[in-house]
Amino acid sequence: MRGTRLQWMSVSRYNALPIRACGIPARPLTGRSMDDLPPCPQCHYTYTYEDGTRFVCPECSHEWSGSAAPGIAEARVWKDAFGNELKNGDSVMVIKDLKVKGSSSVLKTGTKVKNIRLTDGDHDIDCKIDGFGSMQLKSEFVKKA
Ligand SMILES: [Zn+2]
Repeated sequence: MRGTRLQWMSVSRYNALPIRACGIPARPLTGRSMDDLPPCPQCHYTYTYEDGTRFVCPECSHEWSGSAAPGIAEARVWKDAFGNELKNGDSVMVIKDLKVKGSSSVLKTGTKVKNIRLTDGDHDIDCKIDGFGSMQLKSEFVKKA
């Protein structure tokens, strides 16, 4: 009894494998969200930025055409308080004391913020600030450094 059953199970398992493998469609490699720029094809650095119709990697200076990349958000332009265009990876300086939500700390005028990440929304800059951690800022309160 026992021997028969084991044999049946092993046969069943063996037969199921190739069927399952064939039935899984190849997954497209689109693991990123809509507003992300494509990672650098050369070094895979993810904080790339757009320069006109091209993409630029601040890590290895590689430039490539972005025309083939799907799902790229069209041409929103982020500007600092003085109308300078901001890009992902830029450094900026805070131009106004900013109260930090949920904290008694104040982000002081002149605080430097490196490697910003532009996002859609009211607070359109994602960044990390020493002593504060991950923060969201408004582009109207910063100046391109
Ligand atoms: Zn790169």
